[in-house]
Amino acid sequence: MSSNRTFRGGVHPLHGSHEGKAPTRGEAVRDYIAQTVTILMGMHLGAPSTPCVQVGDHVKLGQPIGEPVGFLGLPVHASVSGEVVAVGPVQSVTNPSAMAVTIKNDFKDEWVPLNPLGDVETCPADQIVPAIKAAGVCGMGGASFPTHVKFAVKEGQYCDTIILNGAECETHLTCDHRLMLEDSKRIVDGLRAAMRALGVKKGVIAIEDNKPDAIEAMRKAAQGREGVEVMPLLTKYPQGGEKQLIHVVTGREVPTKKLPLDVHVIVLNVGTAKAIADAVIDGRPLISRITTVTGHVKKPSNLRVRVGTPVSDLIRECGGYSIPESDVGKVVMGGAMTGFPCPHDRVPVAKANNGVVVYSQREAVELEESPCIRCGRCIDACPIGLNPCKLKYLCDAGDMKRAGEENVMDCVVCGSCSYICPARRRLTTSFKAMKDKIAAEARKGKG
Ligand code: SF4
Ligand code: SF4
Repeated sequence: MSSNRTFRGGVHPLHGSHEGKAPTRGEAVRDYIAQTVTILMGMHLGAPSTPCVQVGDHVKLGQPIGEPVGFLGLPVHASVSGEVVAVGPVQSVTNPSAMAVTIKNDFKDEWVPLNPLGDVETCPADQIVPAIKAAGVCGMGGASFPTHVKFAVKEGQYCDTIILNGAECETHLTCDHRLMLEDSKRIVDGLRAAMRALGVKKGVIAIEDNKPDAIEAMRKAAQGREGVEVMPLLTKYPQGGEKQLIHVVTGREVPTKKLPLDVHVIVLNVGTAKAIADAVIDGRPLISRITTVTGHVKKPSNLRVRVGTPVSDLIRECGGYSIPESDVGKVVMGGAMTGFPCPHDRVPVAKANNGVVVYSQREAVELEESPCIRCGRCIDACPIGLNPCKLKYLCDAGDMKRAGEENVMDCVVCGSCSYICPARRRLTTSFKAMKDKIAAEARKGKG
């Protein structure tokens, strides 16, 4: 079942001990339900939602607790039933003052009334996108882009292919792999719902060839489903990048400053497809997700957790640290290439958090940067065709204009250049900082 379908550039961090997937690959998903959840209002790309509950309110499972703000806005829902015990700012992974609603679970799991549309093949196609928005669905592969906005096809645009990203090319993570094995039919249902919403005839489920069991499971689930095919891809990082997937699957290049829809494609993560199916078939909002918990924990696992579960609960549920706590170097949300270090272990899981990895002090040590030796390896590794070596100088010099001209905004912050650099240059960190700066300037300009 191996494949030679791939893209230009990229790296191979997924070999041998670096891969980090072995401890959880065979771990079936199990449920963990927290006593208290802290649900962030800003779990999606776009303005954070506005809390619409108060301390002391009793909320039901799936009840809206945050109202959408602006074009990219999404509602936020209670992930447990119980009492609201706090509304206010908390520390998230990337924001020291993120608005959140904290709910003490009464463990009744009492649902708010739901509005299911029913079978994805027969439900009214024009109600699918509104159902996805009402369910608060955003990209679950890490990008957290509001899903209904991806479906906003403008005048003159059209979509002819929907690609489901089952590559899971990031190190350590196996949550999508397990989802494809354990809930393959729901994933195909989500893809079919997305196809029907836009009248798209072709759906492709793209999976790296290091997951032959998932390829088989998805092929079985896709049998007899109109227009759906499964495509194995070569295992290479970042195979799951949107532009890379589109190129591999369709042969089309997404031009600089353009979006997938400009080449008639929409890309969704397999977890997002499952959330779409839940929203359409059952009317259920996005209140839980599978998260891989691995690294130095006693029992590495794939846990289905409610949104807002603290990372400390996940670690406890996995038997606690497998090394003395004083040897823990950092806890990262996500994998080694794109994850963010947690400022402390009480930060809550958001809709797009696909993993928690515990590193030892020795593993967490950042080696000193040294001067560039102009080896060009970063240029070969960049899947977007950027010149990371040159860009780093421009970004570190704060030269926004020239960094923009060198297309820093096209950088997908995949980390391939930093990974391959023999001088340990912190290339990706510089690009992320410059992208944030340029985006902030653009927002100021609009405001
Ligand atoms: S890989 Fe590192 S050392 Fe080599 S050219 Fe790029 S930045 Fe310089
Ligand atoms: S420049 Fe950006 S897109 Fe290119 S390899 Fe580095 S992080 Fe990835």
